[in-house]
Parts: sequence; structure tokens; C-alpha cells
Amino acid sequence: MPQTHEVVPREILAKTTQLLVELCAISSASGDSEGLRAMAARVAAELSARGLSAEILPEDDGDGGSMPLLVARGPRVGEHPLVLVGHLDTVLDAVAPRLEGDRLWATGALDMKGGLAMLIGALDLLVHRGQQSPGDLMLVAVPDEEVSGFISERAVRRWSEGARVLLVIEPGEARGDAETLVAGRRGLTEWKLDVTGRASHSGLAYWYGRSALAAVADWAAQAQAMSESGPGATVNVARMVAGDSDFVNGLAMHHALLGTSRRRNVVSDRALAEGEARYLTPPDGVRIMAQLARLTERIAEEHEVTMALSHGISVPPVDPKGPGAPIAARVTRLAAERGWTLEVEEDRGGISFPNYIADPSKVPIVDGLAPVGDGMHTREEYLDLRSLERRIALLADLLAELADPA
Ligand SMILES: [Zn+2]
Repeated sequence: MPQTHEVVPREILAKTTQLLVELCAISSASGDSEGLRAMAARVAAELSARGLSAEILPEDDGDGGSMPLLVARGPRVGEHPLVLVGHLDTVLDAVAPRLEGDRLWATGALDMKGGLAMLIGALDLLVHRGQQSPGDLMLVAVPDEEVSGFISERAVRRWSEGARVLLVIEPGEARGDAETLVAGRRGLTEWKLDVTGRASHSGLAYWYGRSALAAVADWAAQAQAMSESGPGATVNVARMVAGDSDFVNGLAMHHALLGTSRRRNVVSDRALAEGEARYLTPPDGVRIMAQLARLTERIAEEHEVTMALSHGISVPPVDPKGPGAPIAARVTRLAAERGWTLEVEEDRGGISFPNYIADPSKVPIVDGLAPVGDGMHTREEYLDLRSLERRIALLADLLAELADPA
């Protein structure tokens, strides 16, 4: 990627890279409370040295233990702060970091100690340029994003609800000569289908029976077929059980029927299916669940069985065209002004920080702000140091533009 002039002064880049190497040398795998505390303390010290007041809160991890949550605040954090979120934990334990040319090979270099170092480098760059960082800037760094997300979800919900902007400092992606930013995340709704037909002897009274199995299979095929490619909604039928009611209702006890000749002469009277639907916008979610409800009614009628569709947990989507869109556009413009290409990922899979907010349609969210690399969650993880430089400058440019009016 062309980079015509130095965007981050050499000493700031060297200092940030050195800090990142040190952060990566601290082993902070999820669940390693001691390592996570060391990691939180190190980041807190760096932020305190830059004028933020940082505290490490012992949070109940929902499992009887306590894990450190790092919250750092600028001098003017009020009810509607500019919130940055990230995580302190890594999937693997640390091994000795290795600098090689433009790459830093280290556990968490990409996911996502690179993002934390980027923030600190951007704060230094702002000072170097004589610019103010937003006084209402707040960092929330959680200890369990890679595992239960128990603390993450609660912390993001609590601190981001009133945020004027939420910036997620997870890595973007390398895409040929370009890099990405994340504007959209799918939400999901879990569902369960319960079917009751009419049992009969398949030899003596076949036509009297109403097969729950045939109904659920028909339903499942049509539900899957509703899935739309591209940004559309998708339906996944994850599990299906059908057979006679003893078999379905007492699967643990009756699974041994499978593979035998027993009860093959019974027209199935019981079936269960469960799965989820995923979608990028709230209206898509409402629409796909309504389609499933109509399908349920129609199949029940056609097969003359009773079918009940119920909803389970729901995770709201982050709409790429929602309130974060103008900020994503702003960030891509800032990158273009520095001579590089930032593309917007409108549809990143997986559930992450942005989905933790009760109503993501009310908060401008931009994700994937941190530098790119490859090998996330493996021993081949590395961070592209050229990307680190670009992203330090990008975040500094963005923070300068988002400076509070005070
Ligand atoms: Zn991550």
C-alpha cells in the first residue's frame, strides 16, 4: 500500500511498538486472573500517564471468581461519553514476542493488544501535534471477551448505553491492498418448533396417521430455503428429533431404538426442531420471524398436525446503515486523505461487543478500528506494523474530529 510520507513520527511509532511487545509478553489468557490483572495494571498505568483516570474494578465473573475490568476516563466524562471498548484477554497463553521486518509475531498482537497499543499511540500523536483528545473519552477493557462474555456484556451495556459514539478497537481485516472497518453485525433470534401429529400403525392404518416427522421435515426444508444470500436474513435448523412420542419425549432413554427394527411400524406423532435466524437489520428480523410463523401455520394445515413455534433469546443486530454509518464514512474519508483505502464491512458474522448493547440502533457504533494482521487465536498470530502506523494516525485523526465542544 502506498504511503508517501511518515504519518507517525518515528519515536512515537517505536515507543508504541515497544509497548505492544511488552503487552504481548504479559500472558493474559481468558481465566488467568493474575495475568489479566497484570495486563490491566500495565494499560492503566499508560493511560494514567496520559491524563486519564484509570481504575481496575474486580468484577464477579458469574462463576464464583473475580476478574479485572479496566475503566479509564478523560477529565470531562459525563452522561454521553465517547466510549472505546476492547478486551484484555487472549485465547492462548503468551509466548515470547518476535519482531520480524514489518511483522510482530505474538499472542494477542492482532486480537487485540494491537488495538490497545494503537489507542495509546494515538493519544501520544495528538499531544505531539498539539491537538486535544476528547475530554469525554472513556476506555472500557474487559477480561472475558474470548470466553463467556459475562462481564463483557454487562460492562458494555452499562457503559455504552448513553455513549455519543462507541468505537470498538478490535482488528479490521486485510483485503488485498485495502483494509476494512466493521459497520454491521448480524443479530439473531433463537426459535423452537413443537409438533404433534397422530400415531397409527403403518401397516394397518397408515392413512389414519398424521406424521409429525413428515411435517417437521417439510417445514425444515422450506425454512432453510427462506434464507437469502448477501445481506439478507438466514434461517438455520440446527436440530430435529422426530418419531413416536416416547422416543422424542424421552430421547435419553430411548435413543437405543435407532438402528433397530422396533417401532418402525408407527407413524410418527411427535417432533421437535430448534435453530436460529440471523439478520442484519431489526426489520429483517421481524420479517423472517413472521415468515416462519406463516410457514408454521401453513405446514400445520397441510399436514393436519399441531405445530407451535416459540422464540428464545434474541440478540439485536447492528445495522450497517444505522447511526454509525456517518462515522464509518468519516473514517474511510480520513484514511483516503492519508492515501490508503479503508473498505466498510457491512456484514461481519459472529456476536461481539456491538451486539451487547440493549438497542444498538440508538448508538453510533464503528467496529474494527484496530490494525490488521492474521492468524488470530493461533500460534501463527501476527500484527502488520505498517497497519499499526496507519491506524494510529487514523484514530488520532478521528479523535481530533470527535473532540468534544467544551
Ligand atoms: Zn478480539
